Amino acid sequence: MTTSFEPGAPAPEDFVPLCVPRIQGNEWKYIKECLDSNFVSSVGPFVDRFERDVADYLRAKHAIATVSGTAALHIALLLAGVKPGDEVLISTLTFIAPVNAIRYVGAWPVFMDAEPDFWQMDPAKVEKFLLQECLWDGSELRNKATGRRIKAILPVHILGHPADMDPILEIAHRFNLRVVDDAAEAMGAEYKGRKAGHLGDISCLSFNGNKVITTGGGGMIVTDDDALAKRAKYLTTQAKDDPVEYIHKEIGYNYRLTNIQAAMGCAQLEVLDDYVSAKRKIAKSYRNGLEAVNGITLMSEADWAFSSYWLSTILVDESKCRLDSRALRKQLNQKRIQSRPLWQPNHLSPAHLGAQSYEIDVAERLYSRAVSLPSSVSLTENEQDFVVKAIRSASLD
Ligand SMILES: *Cc1c(COP(=O)(O)O)cnc(C)c1O
Repeated sequence: MTTSFEPGAPAPEDFVPLCVPRIQGNEWKYIKECLDSNFVSSVGPFVDRFERDVADYLRAKHAIATVSGTAALHIALLLAGVKPGDEVLISTLTFIAPVNAIRYVGAWPVFMDAEPDFWQMDPAKVEKFLLQECLWDGSELRNKATGRRIKAILPVHILGHPADMDPILEIAHRFNLRVVDDAAEAMGAEYKGRKAGHLGDISCLSFNGNKVITTGGGGMIVTDDDALAKRAKYLTTQAKDDPVEYIHKEIGYNYRLTNIQAAMGCAQLEVLDDYVSAKRKIAKSYRNGLEAVNGITLMSEADWAFSSYWLSTILVDESKCRLDSRALRKQLNQKRIQSRPLWQPNHLSPAHLGAQSYEIDVAERLYSRAVSLPSSVSLTENEQDFVVKAIRSASLD
C-alpha cells in the first residue's frame, strides 16, 4: 500500500476498526469458573446472575437471557400477542433484524419514517398514520389499505439514541397496541431518566460482538410483567411442560444463553458505564474536531436524552461539501479507517418487498448522507485525531 501517513498517525500496517469489543475486566475469571465447575451450557449460576444484574441495572422486574437479540425480538413479538396476518409499525431506518422478527411470527411490517433531528421513529407520523389510515372499532385497529389488524409498535433506538417514547406509548395505549422496543444499540442510554432497555411494554437487548457490551452473541427480553416473564422463559426453553416425561403443549425454541456467555456478560456489565462514558467522549471529540467543517454534522442528542453514542455518525451534505458520503468512505478506506453507511432503509430492501410504507423521505436522505465512524471503546486519541484529520482533508481538498 502506498498511502502516505501523517506524523503521529497509526503505523500503515494498523487499521482503525469501526467498533470492536474491549475485554479487560473479569471475563477470564468468570469464564474460568464455568470451565472449572463444568457449568458450560444453558443452566448455571452466571445465567441467573446476568439476568438479575441486567434487570437491576435497568430497574426492571425481569430480564430473560436469549442466544441473540434477534431471538429476543422474536419471542417479544410472540409475548405481545402478534399473530400471523397482523401488522407491526416499525421505523424503516434500522438494522433488518427486528423487521425479520416481525416476519418470523407471520406478521407484516408497516414502515414509518425517521424524524430529522435524532433519526428515530417519527411519533408525529405514527400518530397521523393511526388516526388517518386506520379504523378503530373500540377494541381493534385495522389498516384501511390492507384490512389487517395492527397489533404493535416497534421503535428501534438506533445508534445509541433513544426514540421519543412518551408520545409513542401514549398513542399505542390509546389504541390497545403493545410497544415492543429494540434497544440492541442503546444499552446504557436513557430517555428522561429511564433506562433504554426498559422503556416499552417489552424491551429487547443484544450482546453481539459490536454492541456496547458483548457476550460474543446474546440478547435479553426485559419486562415488568410476571406472566410474560414466565412465558418468555418457557418459550425460550423448548416450551417444556413436563421436564420428566418431556410433554410440550406448544412449539418452543432453543433460545437460551449459555453459562459461559452469561459469565462474559456479567463481567462486561461491570464496566458498562465506563464504556458509555468512553463512547460519549469519542462523540464529543468528533464534534469538536469536525464542527468547523462545512457540510459535516455529527448526530445530536435531544435534551430529553442521554445517548450511549454506540456509533458516532456524521451526515455529509454533498451540496456543501466537496464530496458525498460514499466518496468520503472511499477516502477513509484508503487510509485504512473503517467506516460504514447506515442500513438500507427496509422499505427499499429486496427482503421486504411489498410491505406498506408511509410518507417516507427523511430516512432516505439520512441513508444517503450518513457515515458511521470508528467508535470502539478502546479508540486512542491518536487514532481519533487521525480520523478527524482524514475527514477534514477529504472535505476540503
Ligand atoms: C444488532 C441488532 C439486533 C440483533 O441483535 P443480534 O444479537 O445480532 O441478533 C437487533 N436490532 C438492532 C437494531 C441491532 O443493531
